[in-house]
Amino acid sequence: MTTVKEIIAEMGGASPEDIAFVEKAYEYSKKAHEGQKRYSGEPYFTHAAATAKILAEYGMDATTIAAGLLHDAVEDGRVSREEMEKEFGKELLFIVDGVTKLGTHKYRGAERHAESLRRLLVATASDIRVLIVKLADRKHNMQTLEHVPEHKRRRIALETLEIYAPIADRLGMGKMKNNLEDLAFPFVDPDAAAHAAEVRKLKTQETEGGLAQVQKELKKELAKKGLTKFRSDIRMKGLWSLQKKLERKDDDINRIHDIAALRIIVPTIEDCYTALGMVHALYKPLPGEFKDYIAFPKPNGYQSLHTTVVTPEAGIVEIQIRSEEMHRRAQFGIASHMTYKQLGKGVEKLGKEVQKSRFSAISFSWVRSLIPSLMKVSKKEGGVKGVTKVPPWLFELAEAHSDVAGSEEFVEGLKEDFFSHRVFVFTPQGDVIDLPAESTPIDFAYAIHSDLGDHLQGAKVNGKLVSFDTKLGNGEVVEITRRDSAHPSPKWLEIARTSLARRHIRAALGMTTETSRPPRHQRRLFKKKHPPV
Ligand code: MN
Repeated sequence: MTTVKEIIAEMGGASPEDIAFVEKAYEYSKKAHEGQKRYSGEPYFTHAAATAKILAEYGMDATTIAAGLLHDAVEDGRVSREEMEKEFGKELLFIVDGVTKLGTHKYRGAERHAESLRRLLVATASDIRVLIVKLADRKHNMQTLEHVPEHKRRRIALETLEIYAPIADRLGMGKMKNNLEDLAFPFVDPDAAAHAAEVRKLKTQETEGGLAQVQKELKKELAKKGLTKFRSDIRMKGLWSLQKKLERKDDDINRIHDIAALRIIVPTIEDCYTALGMVHALYKPLPGEFKDYIAFPKPNGYQSLHTTVVTPEAGIVEIQIRSEEMHRRAQFGIASHMTYKQLGKGVEKLGKEVQKSRFSAISFSWVRSLIPSLMKVSKKEGGVKGVTKVPPWLFELAEAHSDVAGSEEFVEGLKEDFFSHRVFVFTPQGDVIDLPAESTPIDFAYAIHSDLGDHLQGAKVNGKLVSFDTKLGNGEVVEITRRDSAHPSPKWLEIARTSLARRHIRAALGMTTETSRPPRHQRRLFKKKHPPV
């Protein structure tokens, strides 16, 4: 069982108040889960404590760590939301609420992929920490998946591979992504996982000795250039990413050069290029294999120099060079941002150069980069043949923010965008309908079906009757009642927000529709197929 001391030990530089807050949450959660057991037979609280420790390792703030401790307490009805707010504050309750909301939606396979993803984003829109708690929760659940009944394992593992790992990747949380993938892979496809493990083992045995020699040689040369403050290690490729590469390279191991890569971590950016020059002076680089992710970071913010060289000792070897700060960020991604925002003091130590570069690369491009992976999944799984279910708002968001820079803007932008431009509401069946902000029950009804709009009689939001001009809010459940004798009134034209609804209303009222045009995102997406009416 994870002790509170172990959690606190990971909270470097935490204030006495923060420590007291986490200690209180620890004791509170322990009590709340008393008598409850996991599938493994262990006390349920072990899960809460383990989740909190993962969050502490990622450098999250005290509120998030405490939320990790309490993330399942409300769902089980052991603690009321009122009590939790009273004891731990609004902020913590908000995070726990978000995590609980995410938990109620089960992943139902590839055709629901986009929808699940949307739900994730809806719940996280206002506070990315919700998603980070969920990732930590998922990591511990994957570590203990063997105890879960067999018929559930594959679904959970697949969900991890297709939803959570890609999101960890987009958030730049490389370590989390690799952990999740490698924990899930054997449950999704045991044979392929065994094969990949075998390939990796063989290749490692082959190159181990040689790599150690190359490492030694490089150390010597770097020292000659006055570079003594660096470390190097050998990083093994994750099994799932090896599997994907094997697929791309027709299962030809000889075409994969980065199963084991040599990693050099130096203090500054200048040192990175010095080290690179030295590596290329020592070993011949393979043409076309050099990548400068420092000057051109990956969409999720990843930075490093990658080069592939021919060594006499170990044959073809990939060498990755990065600064300490880049290394930290490659592992913790957006979580490292949350930390520094909280600690404040730590930022000065890192130096201005780092601060500036840290988030300019991330911006909204991760949303954009989500699109191809969505397409891949829906094609591969054959969910809907030939049709990719990428929601239009995702395109729009990705496009609108291709050049947003800066750390504050990242989090603020996430908040603003999801809330100011789109609103996500649920049908009573749990399907998500996305609408422009300020949409009303009329827009909702027409978004579902024109017949429902044309015969809209009444609307309920979260079970309560509302007027037609009510502005819908994120996450609300909207229910429409239909009646044959109900018909649109001219007043609806002023209330409706979407042009889809207005077009139908005009038609139902016998008005001409020459001025109606689809909303902006639909114009762009459907230009060729559906010219404006
Ligand atoms: Mn949990």
